Amino acid sequence: MALPNDPVEHLIALLARLPGYGRRSARRAVLKMLQEPDRLMRPLAGALTEAAAAVKPCSICGNLDTRDPCQVCIDPHREKKLVCVVEGVADLWALERAQAHRGLYHVLGGTLSALGGVGPEDLSINPLIARIEASGVEEVILALPATVDGATTAHYLADRLKPTGVTITRLAQGVPIGGMLDVLDDGTLAAALKARRPA
Ligand SMILES: [Zn+2]
Repeated sequence: MALPNDPVEHLIALLARLPGYGRRSARRAVLKMLQEPDRLMRPLAGALTEAAAAVKPCSICGNLDTRDPCQVCIDPHREKKLVCVVEGVADLWALERAQAHRGLYHVLGGTLSALGGVGPEDLSINPLIARIEASGVEEVILALPATVDGATTAHYLADRLKPTGVTITRLAQGVPIGGMLDVLDDGTLAAALKARRPA
């Protein structure tokens, strides 16, 4: 969709593309910024530019951070034998907020979807297999959404990971069907991870 030339409409149209923002909330946010340019609009523009320049995907796990490798990957206190596979960075951040996982992560960048035309080569699956083969990882936790696509992906990954000999587990029940990890409360997430079972 083409963006409008008028700067205010342009801004509204851009904001309206963000998750959780419709045109109505985008318009309200833009109005607030226009009314407080020094307190909101200019600092926000600066923060956006700074973040866009500084943040990139971690070349090991796919997390978004100002460092590469990211803070999680270089943290010496992490349990390096444990890798939690998630659909997206939002899930990684949710697990970090809940302090539910002490190991490392691997972000797939989506789930397999026959309808959506997403195949294994579209996701970070080959890098995951290579990573498991090259390191001393002992357990892979599949923390994927409880959707049809999430289950398909978990199945596929379990098959691909089997030859590496790694232990494969998945989140316990308690993750609602179709529920994305990042909307779960921290306690539910921690419990689901703690009570994980063989995949
Ligand atoms: Zn990382």
